[in-house]
Amino acid sequence: MNVLVCVKQVPDTTEIKIDPVTNTLIREGVPSILNTFDTYALEAALRLKDSEKAKVTVISMGLPKAKDVLKEAISVGADEAYLVSDRSFGGADTLATSYTLTRTIQFLEERSGEKFDIIFCGKQAIDGDTAQVGPEIAEHMGYAQVTYATEVEVKNGKAIVRKDTDDGYCVLAARLPCVISVTKAPYELRFATIKGKLRANRAEIETLSNDVLKIDPEKIGLKGSPTKVKRSFTPELKKAGVVLSGDDPGAMGAKLMGMLRDAKIL
Ligand SMILES: Cc1cc2nc3c(=O)[nH]c(=O)nc-3n(C[C@H](O)[C@H](O)[C@H](O)COP(=O)(O)OP(=O)(O)OC[C@H]3O[C@@H](n4cnc5c(N)ncnc54)[C@H](O)[C@@H]3O)c2cc1C
Repeated sequence: MNVLVCVKQVPDTTEIKIDPVTNTLIREGVPSILNTFDTYALEAALRLKDSEKAKVTVISMGLPKAKDVLKEAISVGADEAYLVSDRSFGGADTLATSYTLTRTIQFLEERSGEKFDIIFCGKQAIDGDTAQVGPEIAEHMGYAQVTYATEVEVKNGKAIVRKDTDDGYCVLAARLPCVISVTKAPYELRFATIKGKLRANRAEIETLSNDVLKIDPEKIGLKGSPTKVKRSFTPELKKAGVVLSGDDPGAMGAKLMGMLRDAKIL
């Protein structure tokens, strides 16, 4: 079995700042991490490595420093990792991003002569937050997709997926190959072992530029992005908040309860 995980390097914050002139994310001065939901997607893939001996390949589109998150993936057990990076990919919206990732997946499949049975994504990136890239990859590939997955098993050639719903969960069977986007799951994530960290340090991560991928330049980066950001801003608060202060937390709690009752919130 052969699985692939798409991972994104994101700023380590949920307070995203946007450059008002270029309308792009300000990444300077903010440490970067592996997108939280992608750590769960990676764990789901590694569980298939444990149970089905699946080979786990990881890809990330981003700046050269995104190699850090690829090394992190190798340190916890991924077998191979590729960085998708080229100036021409810059400024991509979700459509151009998902197309570039799809063409990369197809390139790796053609080069190795082996198809991926499952393509994992996180539910959403904590910076862009659109949750569009996974479903768009499924559409480009023409595959079935399951979103909000928390557990994935493979039985009789099908992916059996536990999927979160608004009022609980359901279990779905998806034919392979398919795309699964994974949300926060109730299980512990694995830590890197020392052996894993050493392996990650030694790992050669190939950078795939568009010289190699040869994707239609009209479909990548800014040119391939139909989304045009006209204006971005932080909405102003219409009402000032109420600050309760005092030395007695119990009394302040009781006062807050009273205010919530008066406002008919409780
Ligand atoms: C007009 C426009 C211009 C933009 N220009 C820029 C820019 O110049 N620089 C910039 O950094 N961003 C830019 N963005 C933001 C960029 O489009 C998104 O960050 C990107 O398309 C992914 O969308 P998302 O973050 O909402 O991911 P989501 O759809 O929320 O992510 C879902 C999942 O898809 C996978 N995924 C998402 N992105 C990647 C990736 N890069 N590599 C591997 N897997 C991935 C992960 O598994 C992730 O959990 C721009 C957006 C627009 C609309």
